[in-house]
This record gives sequence, structure tokens and C-alpha cells, in this order.
Amino acid sequence: MLNKKSVDDINVQGKKVLVRCDFNVPLKDGKITDDTRIVAALPTIKKLVADGGRIILCSHLGKPKGPNHDFSLAPVAARLSELLGKDVVFAADDEVVGENARAAAANLKDGDVMLIENTRYRSEESKCGEAFSKDLASLTDGIFVNDAFGTAHRSHCSNVGVTKFCDTNAVGYLMQKEIDFLGNAVNDPQRPFVAVLGGSKVSSKISVIQNLLDKVDTLIIGGGMAYTFMKALGQEVGKSLLEADYLDYAKEMIEKAQEKGVKLLIPVDTVVTKEFNNDAPSRIAENGDIQADEMGLDIGPATCKLFADALADAKTVVWNGPMGVFEMPNFAKGTIAIAEVLAGLDGATTIIGGGDSAAAVNQLGYADKMTHISTGGGASLEFLEGKELPGVAAADDK
Ligand code: AMP
Repeated sequence: MLNKKSVDDINVQGKKVLVRCDFNVPLKDGKITDDTRIVAALPTIKKLVADGGRIILCSHLGKPKGPNHDFSLAPVAARLSELLGKDVVFAADDEVVGENARAAAANLKDGDVMLIENTRYRSEESKCGEAFSKDLASLTDGIFVNDAFGTAHRSHCSNVGVTKFCDTNAVGYLMQKEIDFLGNAVNDPQRPFVAVLGGSKVSSKISVIQNLLDKVDTLIIGGGMAYTFMKALGQEVGKSLLEADYLDYAKEMIEKAQEKGVKLLIPVDTVVTKEFNNDAPSRIAENGDIQADEMGLDIGPATCKLFADALADAKTVVWNGPMGVFEMPNFAKGTIAIAEVLAGLDGATTIIGGGDSAAAVNQLGYADKMTHISTGGGASLEFLEGKELPGVAAADDK
């Protein structure tokens, strides 16, 4: 059980606090095209403002290699100021912690908010270099709050290095929620616990499958990765996505599930087509009936029913990866069906891993029907692999 110190457990009155946010927002011609991440950061910032902290925000944006004003956080400061209804001083230093940042930090009054420049202006950021970590900590009164889950699987100065030079290292509300659900609910689930895995490749989810097989009652496999499992069971899959190198692994997992008494479900029918194209004619192929020139791009209706039945009495569900090529509307039905089933589950904890399944749930308008939608792609996958995330580990235990 992860039990980390949060912003509810620290005293920031009159103290300078560095808060690592995820302001990695999409920009077009210097304008923010989607401010979801800024809005998501507000609860933690408002809490620290209300507590009388002197708040210094930081984040990366994109992947500049050194100072590059196309990646400046200046537009974020402006938007944040509108959303908070108060001034957010922007300290524009190419070295991130420079003259402007130091002067602005020294001038902060209780409840004031400032933002420093893109942490990736400093090349040591991603190498967790000591000098930049110390610079960041030097702006504060020894208090650091990490609210950036998207980078929690990386050891950078602004989420891990800085903690070595601060006395108090807590997590913000966004991080806390990720820890509560992707970390703790998955490790200590209410049962039945069902995992739904999809997406393109078995190879990218090996450790997730392995880790979840030790925890779940039922493991549902759909999407492109299902064909490697189907082939491992001796079924022809035509031109469907197949990772021949992973057939033995798939067999091993099927055996491991049997040994552990885990119900492992794979598709019983498939929507097949001859071309990777939304408008190509398609048909439903039952197992064993996929022809050599056909490829499966979605789960079929009998599979939707099989998976829905398996989910019906679930008390905890974790879902990562679409059931088909959901970017093409004609092959999105399986993914939509799973999203609908999850949205309709009463009294269950539904956890959506980041990336494509989160995008699907958001697009379909089911976001408010899920218990938790992770904001981190890579980070949420590593959490599901059972790995310790450096950004989480660096926070103080309660
Ligand atoms: P991942 O990043 O591994 O979660 O994979 C997501 C991608 O898997 C999406 O872009 C889907 O289009 C793709 N995908 C899902 N099902 C299939 C399939 N049957 N054949 C090919 N690609 C698929």
C-alpha cells in the first residue's frame, strides 16, 4: 500500500513551495489549443493558495533541447492567471532558475503564484543533474509538491532530483488520485477484479499481462494483441496483427492463467476485412474462419457479449488499450461496447489506463462515468506493470 504525504498533510503558511505540474499542453502558433492539463492542476494550486503558501510552479513543455522560445511556458502563465483570477508572475529565464526567478520568488507574498520557465530549457533536466536540482530547491523553503503523474516514470531534476534538496516532499491531488487507483486499488482490489487489455502489441504489454495475472480474477484480451493468443491456440488469423516471436509467451500466459485459476478470455469472433481502410467491406468471422487474405480489425458481436457478461459483476475493472482500430468508425464498435459496459457498471471501481483507452472514453463522453481516468500514458503502463515509479517513490511516506 502506497501512503504518501499529500498537500493535506503539510504546512505551507508563509513558505515558498515548488510545485511540479504537468503543463505539457498542445500549442499552435503560441496559443494553447487544449487547456485540460492546466485546469486539472487547479485544485492543488488553489489548496496551496488557500493555505497561504508562496507558490512557485514549474513544468516541462515539449522536448526543446535547451532554451527555445517556441516552447516557452509564457502562454501557460497567462491562461493560469485567467483561470485562477489572480496574477501569475512569469519568470522568463533561459537558465530556468536565474535572476528573474530568484527576484520573483523573493517578492512572493502569502498566496501569490509564479511560474518559472520550461524545465527542459536545462539539458540536465532529463539526466537528473545535481546542479539544476539544487537550483530548483534553492528557490524554496525546503518544500516540494509533485503533481505531475505523466513524468512519474522518469527520474528528472524537477520531479526526483529536487527532492534530495528539500526537507518536505509531498504529492498533489492529481498524483494522489493516480496512486489511489492505479497503485492501491489495483494491488488491493475489491473482487471480482477484471482487467481488459487491448491495443496493438503483446510485446508492449508483456509485463502488464504478467503482473495482472497475479492479481485479477478475469483477464480479457482484445485488440490487435488477441491474434497472437488466438494463433497460439492453433487458430488461423490470416493477415491480422501477429507477433510470431511471442507465440510461446502467449502459450505460457494461457498456462499460467490456468494454473492460477484466472479466467482468460480472448475473442470468439472478429470483424475482418481485406484492406486496412474504414470503407473496405467487412464481415464477421467466427474463430477459425479468418481467411488467409483477411485481417481482424475489431472484436465481433459475440465477443462483445462474452466480455460484457464477464464484466457484469465486476467490482474493480482496469482497462488499457482499445478492442480494435477504433480510430476508424467502422472498427470502433468493440471499443465503444466496452466503454458502455464500464460506464454502466453500478458500484464498481472503473480505472482507465492512459493513452488510447482514455482518449476513447473521453471522446465517447463517458469520462464522468468512470471512477478514474489516468492522465499518464507511459507512467500508467509502468504502474500497471507493478514497477516502482521514481516520481512516486521520491515523495515522503506519511
Ligand atoms: P497501444 O498503443 O498498444 O495501446 O495500441 C493502440 C493501437 O492499437 C490503436 O491505434 C489501435 O488502432 C490499434 N489496434 C487495436 N486493435 C487492432 C487490430 N485488430 N489491428 C491493428 N491495430 C489494432
